[in-house]
Amino acid sequence: MPIQILADDVVSQIAAGEVVERPASVVKELIENALDAGAKNIHVDIWQGGQKRIRISDDGEGIHADEVRLAITRHATSKLRQAEDLQSIRTLGFRGEALSSIAAVSRLALVTRHRDETIGTEIRVEGSAIIHQKPVGNPAGTVISVDNLFFNTPARLKFLKSENTEKRQIVSIVTHYAMAYPHVRFVLLHDGREFFRSPGSGQLEDVVVKVFGLENFKQMLEVGGTERIHELGDDIVVHGFVSQPKLNRKDRTRIIVFINGRAVQDSGLTYAVTQAYHTLMDKGRHPYAVLMIHMPTDFVDVNVHPTKAEVRFQDTNVVFTAVQRTVRRAIVGFAQAERHGGYGVGQVEREGWSLPYNDAPQRQLDMDLEVEPLGTFGDQPDPAEMSEDELARIPEGAGRPENPRTLPLLRVVGQIGAAYIVAEGPAGMYLIDQHTAHTRVLYTELKALRAQQGRLPHRELQSQTLEVNPDVAQLIEQHLEMLQSLGVILEAFGGTTFLIRSIPAIWQVGDPPALVWSLLGCLQSASVDDVSDALLVHIARLAAVKAGKILDVDEMRGLVRKLEYCPDPLIDPDGKPTLIHMSADHLAREFGRANRTS
Ligand code: ADP
Ligand code: MG
Repeated sequence: MPIQILADDVVSQIAAGEVVERPASVVKELIENALDAGAKNIHVDIWQGGQKRIRISDDGEGIHADEVRLAITRHATSKLRQAEDLQSIRTLGFRGEALSSIAAVSRLALVTRHRDETIGTEIRVEGSAIIHQKPVGNPAGTVISVDNLFFNTPARLKFLKSENTEKRQIVSIVTHYAMAYPHVRFVLLHDGREFFRSPGSGQLEDVVVKVFGLENFKQMLEVGGTERIHELGDDIVVHGFVSQPKLNRKDRTRIIVFINGRAVQDSGLTYAVTQAYHTLMDKGRHPYAVLMIHMPTDFVDVNVHPTKAEVRFQDTNVVFTAVQRTVRRAIVGFAQAERHGGYGVGQVEREGWSLPYNDAPQRQLDMDLEVEPLGTFGDQPDPAEMSEDELARIPEGAGRPENPRTLPLLRVVGQIGAAYIVAEGPAGMYLIDQHTAHTRVLYTELKALRAQQGRLPHRELQSQTLEVNPDVAQLIEQHLEMLQSLGVILEAFGGTTFLIRSIPAIWQVGDPPALVWSLLGCLQSASVDDVSDALLVHIARLAAVKAGKILDVDEMRGLVRKLEYCPDPLIDPDGKPTLIHMSADHLAREFGRANRTS
């Protein structure tokens, strides 16, 4: 064949091959874009392991209407201008390849509105060809749907692994990013069912509990340390959680390392972590670890590979030492403390105060995913398929016709501090936070009601008005119907004044305009995809009994009884705990009864 320059679409497909290896790579790139755009909520919906459809919504800054086309053009980026910038990269993306690559091998739809603009844009691309582009009204942020990945590259399609394997990879990506960005709330749905949710509380431990399960987390230690890079006069900072030596496994898949917020695959670092356990853990075993490592951007080169999962350090040894020392110090400190009996109050409490029941929601994800570490999309052995049993552990939504009991039968003993209910069960003592527990109960009930009747019961009001600013007025107009389905009927009353016709019937106390205001505040900050659920949570929270209210025994009994049947009784919808359980064993130990007969 004579030499010819390849046609554009062929080049795009070849380039796409480097970035988009499988559905999980799409999820990774789109999450990175959402994070780069400053999103606080990232919602990942996948269907059939992402092969049929991937949709990622974020509430980041969005894309300007006149830049939408550029965004899907190869080597077009807002994050890098000149080669020198490569040394100081603070964003996750910079190569300007992801969107164009994904668009080259899928049917891509992008709906976005920049937060400074009033009108959004929708664009559809099929195998790089733009099908249409039009203005649309949508909330600020970006929603990208990727349908039928690899529809035009049959060779790639053939190499996709089973749906479960692909799904596991995606779970791995989402959970890793949730740990690296604990202040961002991630939600992952598979085939419409919620699979993972991070609380977005900003606390790494909250996410680690969700990902590894509470039982494992209880066997982990917090680590933190710094190492000076002498020639730069700067520090490498390491912090995170590692397991006590007794918690270990045969592979390295639970050693998760982030460099400057980027999940990386680096066998040297993984080795450094395992090395720190030298003599404390059997050969061939590996710990659990989640380590966040921060270093000056010019000390690390992230531009090694298109997936950016590999990095190079100016001085590998310094990084290695920083990691090993930090982990070693914590492990040895723990081992010594253990030998001398006791590891401080915090530790004892963590062990004794635990959540009841084996199927606590925190454990739902700890299903031995056997995932490859993030970014290793190479030739690794195919992870074991997920069993029926594991699939069955996917959380069920609230509002099922008959919820099974999720807590043992509890006997109410009393109330303390006008905030907590003390109860007793077969396995010890329970301290229940009346506000979060009630929020959980009400949310479960409201969700079920809305599912059954399509709307929440409302309470009509007379002559209550609401003055809003033009932004909020527009927001109300946009969500009029949804608000109505939640029992909030607002009627335009000229200008930016609204009449409050009704509020949710569940709001029995409080000033209606103030309650509606609060709800609108929630509407403003809710994520694109999650709006109505976020509002439902907010309605429940506003209606729930507050701390400071003295309850009579019947009220407490009623609340506890309902909590016993909630699908997620241990946390409120925002992930805050509803109760603390102190086991009978722990009580016995605390009182030195462990070895006594009476
Ligand atoms: P890169 O992330 O390397 O810049 P991409 O192809 O992933 O390249 O994205 C191209 C550009 O599109 C980005 O630089 C950014 O300006 C814009 N973009 C992509 N996704 C989003 C998003 N979710 N929110 C806001 N802007 C986005
Ligand atoms: Mg990108």
